Amino acid sequence: MYKTACFFAIPLYTFVPMSLFIASLNSGSNGNCYYIGNKNEAILVDVGISCRAMEKRMKHLGLDLSLVKAVFISHEHSDHISGLGSLLKRQRIPLYVSEKTFQFCGVEYDMTEINHFSNGDTIAVGNMNISVFSKIHDAIDPYSFCVEENGIYVGVITDIGRCGDNVVKWFSKCHAAFLEANYDEEMLNDGPYPFYLKRRIAGGLGHLSNDQALKLFKEHRPGYMSHLILSHLSKTNNSPEIVESLFARDCGDVQIVVAPRTEETNLFEIDGTGNGMSGKISQDWVQTVLSFNNKA
Ligand SMILES: [Zn+2]
Ligand SMILES: [Zn+2]
Repeated sequence: MYKTACFFAIPLYTFVPMSLFIASLNSGSNGNCYYIGNKNEAILVDVGISCRAMEKRMKHLGLDLSLVKAVFISHEHSDHISGLGSLLKRQRIPLYVSEKTFQFCGVEYDMTEINHFSNGDTIAVGNMNISVFSKIHDAIDPYSFCVEENGIYVGVITDIGRCGDNVVKWFSKCHAAFLEANYDEEMLNDGPYPFYLKRRIAGGLGHLSNDQALKLFKEHRPGYMSHLILSHLSKTNNSPEIVESLFARDCGDVQIVVAPRTEETNLFEIDGTGNGMSGKISQDWVQTVLSFNNKA
């Protein structure tokens, strides 16, 4: 059995092009966790769900926690760190976080390796390079990320009050991006939130509206972008149907996905061909590679 599995796995390794595999494990003000990896290693951006939920959802996608070689934290709001403490207790995964943000996280840790980054840093995790850039958000020291391998770029850009130069610069490189589309302006204005909260969300330091996200997409997406994962939707002030229909008009060949608030997306393969409509769920291949890695 052992020899048979290896015999079939090795040729696949040889012919499958280099790709990044991405999924949202949860997205919204109730918790955020994003997976980006290649065939051998992966990172998580934010851990705003329980360890149990995270592992369960990864399992649905054919992924194992052992693939995760680093965790990156964008900022200290609880929807981005609520599961961090339990993850660090359970698994010794190196943590990457800004020094100021870490002070505000209040997580207990034991032997975990803590690495601090700052604006403009690029950090290598296996074959992936993670660029760190500051963003505009009402947190102590907030960041977004862009993961690159073999010239394929994936951005994780949520929790932004407005699009600063950094966001435009990195978004315009992305083959795929998790991009915040937090609220529909009309629903927020007419909705039940108190005035101070409406101001916090839409005042330029909170979150990105559907229209602001669409403007960024229309004006700055590169021609080769294949996937846009619309993320961090508000439960009260937005709806997946509104977002989908808004972006459908202008999406061209880009596959638009709305990340759910209580479950994972599919696992998408970003292969750099720029053809989003043929973007495929590559679970069979990942399973084959995982079985090969486990046996090698
Ligand atoms: Zn958030
Ligand atoms: Zn936030």
